[in-house]
Amino acid sequence: MQTPLQVLKTVFGYDSFRQQQEEIINHVLARKDALVLMPTGGGKSLCYQIPALVFEGTSVIISPLLSLMKDQVDALNASGIAAAALNSSNSESENIDIRRQAESGKLKILYISPERLQREIPWLQRINIPLFAIDEAHCISQWGHDFRPEYTQLGCLHQKFPKATIMALTATADKLTKEDILHQLGLNAHKVFISSFDRPNLSLEVKRGYSSLEKIREILSIISRHKGDSGIVYCLSRKNTEKVAQLLLEKGVRARAYHAGMTTEERNSVQEEFINDKIDVVCATIAFGMGIDKSNVRFVIHYNLPKSIESFYQEIGRAGRDGLPSETVLFYNFQDIVTLRSFVNASGQKEINSEKLDRMQEYAESLICRRRILLNYFGESSNCDCGNCDICKRPPRRFNGTILVQKALSAIKRTNEQIGFTMTAQILKGFSSEEIVQNGYDKIKTFGVGSGTTLKHWYDYLLQMLHLGFIEIAYNESNHLKITESGNEVLFGKKRTELAIPVDREPEKENRSQCKPKFSSKSFVNEPDANDDLFEVLRKTRRQIAEENDWPAYVVLSDRTLRDLVATPPLSLDDLYSVYGFGERKIEMFGQRFARNKSNQGERCENACIFIAEPKGFVLVQIRGDKRVRDDN
Ligand code: ADP
Ligand code: ZN
Repeated sequence: MQTPLQVLKTVFGYDSFRQQQEEIINHVLARKDALVLMPTGGGKSLCYQIPALVFEGTSVIISPLLSLMKDQVDALNASGIAAAALNSSNSESENIDIRRQAESGKLKILYISPERLQREIPWLQRINIPLFAIDEAHCISQWGHDFRPEYTQLGCLHQKFPKATIMALTATADKLTKEDILHQLGLNAHKVFISSFDRPNLSLEVKRGYSSLEKIREILSIISRHKGDSGIVYCLSRKNTEKVAQLLLEKGVRARAYHAGMTTEERNSVQEEFINDKIDVVCATIAFGMGIDKSNVRFVIHYNLPKSIESFYQEIGRAGRDGLPSETVLFYNFQDIVTLRSFVNASGQKEINSEKLDRMQEYAESLICRRRILLNYFGESSNCDCGNCDICKRPPRRFNGTILVQKALSAIKRTNEQIGFTMTAQILKGFSSEEIVQNGYDKIKTFGVGSGTTLKHWYDYLLQMLHLGFIEIAYNESNHLKITESGNEVLFGKKRTELAIPVDREPEKENRSQCKPKFSSKSFVNEPDANDDLFEVLRKTRRQIAEENDWPAYVVLSDRTLRDLVATPPLSLDDLYSVYGFGERKIEMFGQRFARNKSNQGERCENACIFIAEPKGFVLVQIRGDKRVRDDN
């Protein structure tokens, strides 16, 4: 029998376990129940897949989403594991075949939805099931953010299957949900494993006060840094998803919108195209992504401020599951606050939602390392700067902003606090819009006192003033700005204040002390050179294999594996064993197409070289020094 580490290496092609994976696997192998809390992309699947391979019999994985099941089954099959999903999208004969394989003990992993499970219990009781793994286990709790009534019936598992070990897995870590899961499932001799929620490969960046046009320009620049990569742009409204997708399409980006107003078929087709790399960018409302296990999402952009840190973290978590550097950018402006506040006020749970939005806003406004805020929010006390967020990379510089603040407050005062955010900035800038002239605001003393400052910077300063508590928004009075007591102190010269200098372009990096370099982004990104050509060739080969087998491309090999192949081109099939993510089965199945075979090596190349399969045959890509030279003979 293989040890978990051997299985990790031979089947999945990985060298070492992450975080607590090994401990969790050993605990489950000792037939003890477990609750596993790990962030999205942390590596939960291996925690049940490896025990399932080591145990005799068929392990059952309960998962709420059909699309995710299919994805996982494809990935397992690609690694040579007998896995299947029992569901209504199969034909009856397929389901009969799956049952037969399970009865004969050949099937190692069976995916099933909670509602289907109920119907299958009598049959399942007849086969050997060593392990039940409940994925997305927070769905069992009303406290979680995605309660599903079918999950509550899972409480009977221990009684119906007294010999089976049960593990529950989730990326939601709040205390109430956790206790609810333990209680409802009645876990035995259980242990709770809580992994760090840190995802150091995700860079964090907030861009404040951008107009729609500036956001699009910025998004295009992010996309151009990630040619051929996948990304998601989350928007607050359906209308915006369509608008952004359209604008990107016009610029030649393969983008599509995704939102709850579309038909199921339309949504499935977007998801399929994204999974199969037929489109690169999806502009989505929050409804997108839950069923997506795509490991090569390289950027996640929030076009608007999200409603809570939980949703934000879950959404950015869809980037960089393969551990490679990935970019996350959050746009945040005044209008977002107004819109989100109105949602909060209309929601059933006003207090809780308002508190959540406050925390999200604090994150966006933060002047300290953003990752520290996130980790502290999830209860992991962190007192080191991360070095991979905008605050760490470009610490905000401040100046004495008293006079600027006084000018803005005075403009608000002289209109009797009857103006909102945009008009305040326009008055300061001296912008004679129709509305301003109609109201006679072009005649007030403060009109144009801030003409030397750009409108964009005025928006930025006003946001800072809001956050510093000098002004507040009267949501019940057309969102007009009101001066607070503390604002009056500044206005009347009783208090001084500092403001942060708005950041327009990326200035020089400044080095700040960090506890330890947690993550180096040096290795793979942004090194456009011959490597990129080779990467493209490899990607093409991957796509062919994907199409031949009807798998998503990232199931064949992850981007990380392709990067590894580029960095250290294998000279022989044997060399593939040391490439990240190349397990035995994949080497056997299509290793030839990525490596030179020793037996037909002929004259050994002076430098490293690899063969790439293309429709017209093998293409030799040779590496001379740092250069890749293609030899089409
Ligand atoms: P989760 O279910 O927690 O969101 P996954 O199980 O999908 O995360 O894992 C995310 C990615 O990390 C997958 O591509 C997986 O193959 C990879 N991965 C998991 N564990 C390891 C490991 N020990 N070494 C290398 N890659 C790993
Ligand atoms: Zn930081």
